[in-house]
Amino acid sequence: MYNKGLLIVVSGPSGAGKGTVCKALLKKDNNLKLSVSMTTRKPRNGEVDGENYFFTTTEKFKTLIENNMLLEWAKVYDNYYGTPKEFVQKNIDEGHDVILEIDIQGALKVKDKYPEGVFIFILPPSMEELKNRIKKRGTETEEEILKRFKSAYEEINFVSRYNYVVINDDVDLAVDKILAIIKAEKCRVDRN
Ligand code: 5GP
Repeated sequence: MYNKGLLIVVSGPSGAGKGTVCKALLKKDNNLKLSVSMTTRKPRNGEVDGENYFFTTTEKFKTLIENNMLLEWAKVYDNYYGTPKEFVQKNIDEGHDVILEIDIQGALKVKDKYPEGVFIFILPPSMEELKNRIKKRGTETEEEILKRFKSAYEEINFVSRYNYVVINDDVDLAVDKILAIIKAEKCRVDRN
C-alpha cells in the first residue's frame, strides 16, 4: 500500500526559479527522479537533448498525443510541452518519487488524472524580482520576456489549486521546505 512513490508536481511562473530548485533538490534526494519532458521548443545554448528536454518536431509530438503516450501536454508560449507517461509510471511503481516541472495547465490536467499527487507552487519573493530573473537569464527576446511576465500575473491566481506554496527567496531554503513536504507526505495516514 505504501510502496509506491510519490508524484510531485512543481509549477510556478517563469522566473520563479523552478529549474534551479528542482536541480538542487535532485542532488539532495537520491530516491527522487526527474521526468524529462518532450518539447517542440528549440534548445537554448547549453541545453542537452535527453537531459533538459527531449527536443522533437511538432509532427512527432502530435503522434505521441494520438498514441496516448503523454501523461499530460500543453501549449506554452507557442511551443508544445508534454510528460512521457511510461517513465513516470514505471518509477512510481518501483517506489521512486518522480518530480514533474511543468506549467499550470499541465499541472491541472495531472491533478484530474492523479489527484493523489503532491502539487507544489513556487513563487518568487516579489514581482520585481521575477522580472529581474527573467531578464537576467538572457535567453528570451524583449517580446518573450513581456509575454512571460504578463502570464506570470495571471498564473499566480492558480496557487489555490495546489497543496503547497514555496517562496523561492533562497534556493537552499526552498529545497529544505520541499524535502520537508516530501517527508510529511510519506507520513500521511490518508494516502493510499
Ligand atoms: P521553458 O521553455 O522555459 O523551458 O519552459 C516553459 C514552461 O513550460 C515552464 O513553465 C515549464 O515548467 C513548462 N514545461 C516544461 N515541461 C513541461 C511539460 O512536460 N508539460 C507542461 N505542461 N509544461 C512543461
